[in-house]
Amino acid sequence: MTPPVLRFAPSPTGLLHVGNARTALYNALYARREGGTFILRYDDTDTARSTEEFAQAIARDMEWLGLTPDRVEYQSRRLDRYDAAVERLKAVGRLYPAYETEEELETRRLSRRRRGLPPTYDRAALKLSDDDRARLEGEGRRPHWRFRLDGLKVVWADLVRGEQAVDTATLSDPVLVRADGSYLYTLTSVVDDIEMGVTHVVRGEDHVTNTGVQIEIIEALGGNVPVFGHHNLLTLPSGEGLSKRLGHLSLTALREEGQEALAIASLAVLTGTSLAVEAVPDLDALAQRIDFSKISRAPARFDPADLDALTAQTLHVLPYASVAERLAAIGIGGGEALWLAVRGNLGRLADTATWWRVVEGPLAPAIAPEDADFLAQAADLLPPEPWDGGVYPAFIAAVKPASGRTGKSLFHPLRLALTGAESGPELKALLPLIGRARAQARLRGETA
Ligand code: GLU
Repeated sequence: MTPPVLRFAPSPTGLLHVGNARTALYNALYARREGGTFILRYDDTDTARSTEEFAQAIARDMEWLGLTPDRVEYQSRRLDRYDAAVERLKAVGRLYPAYETEEELETRRLSRRRRGLPPTYDRAALKLSDDDRARLEGEGRRPHWRFRLDGLKVVWADLVRGEQAVDTATLSDPVLVRADGSYLYTLTSVVDDIEMGVTHVVRGEDHVTNTGVQIEIIEALGGNVPVFGHHNLLTLPSGEGLSKRLGHLSLTALREEGQEALAIASLAVLTGTSLAVEAVPDLDALAQRIDFSKISRAPARFDPADLDALTAQTLHVLPYASVAERLAAIGIGGGEALWLAVRGNLGRLADTATWWRVVEGPLAPAIAPEDADFLAQAADLLPPEPWDGGVYPAFIAAVKPASGRTGKSLFHPLRLALTGAESGPELKALLPLIGRARAQARLRGETA
């Protein structure tokens, strides 16, 4: 089997939201798992709405998610290919000029509705003679170009939805070239998918009808029809669809909130499937879970409230290697030992700073008057350095018989004095990091 080629084709007209991330992840992770190629292709031929800033924001979000494309393409730099495809479609009689204005089309749609007809394009332009066209152009009208649909039933085996059929006789002939000469993605996607050898097109179910149309265009251009999969869409908890334009659940905002990229990835991939939504240690583990047949057909609610818990669960299993750079960037030392000691207590990565301060000090110990003598005695019983992971059990084994304390009356004052907090990571892991000098001072009630 030849390695698959997949692509994610966002239009740079807004910030990516979790629904876009879902599409990106399905494509990128499937390609990664199957040893294939993943293309990031900016669908930016709509120059009125596309911006370079949004393209850069998309690149940053993709990098943050850990999805490195094997190839990056901008459709705005590939216009010669679309020109050639347009000539080809004209040559085989599948592309025809139409001159109606948007207002005229709207009036016609309304009148068709009133007469109980579907509001599809009536193909009036197909009946124009050369003279008619010359007259219209003489009036200063520029044509847009429509693809003449076959009006057949287009059928494909969808990776998610099983057998799908679109009856193109019920659709308007799609406009592929606007009057200003710019191209619509209905054409550009197809041209690029053919030329880039895309084998799998995985995208949202809002594209199902498009796929019927696009398969006809692919065939008219003599290309190979890829495998299609249309996943369900994510909605807000209210059921409202996500909108890039309205900035719903943007990855940028979630990153600024301190959510973990891997938690978002897990939630985006696993929500709306029959699989359990759970934290994973890395993207490869998530890639293993991708199974298009397990995606449900109904829209799935994405609740950002679930993200806090999943971010915490993700931190609890993240290996040190995947956070080392980020910890260094926020001035946190302590290496792997600190990370392993504290990760189970984190809600956000930034919380590591709290425990780093507990380790590094200075910290004012919390000591109740009735515990002062006990803690001073404990200070004298701290084992000599060097310390390793066995120091805390050894310390407790000495303090317990000497003080006669057990259970909460033993452990609680020690924790308060050593960490200044009621609860937190295991002292077994923290004490070696705090070190003897600071531990002794804190047990004696000194700020250290
Ligand atoms: N820019 C289109 C979208 O994001 C691309 C669709 C496609 O994947 O072909 O909806």
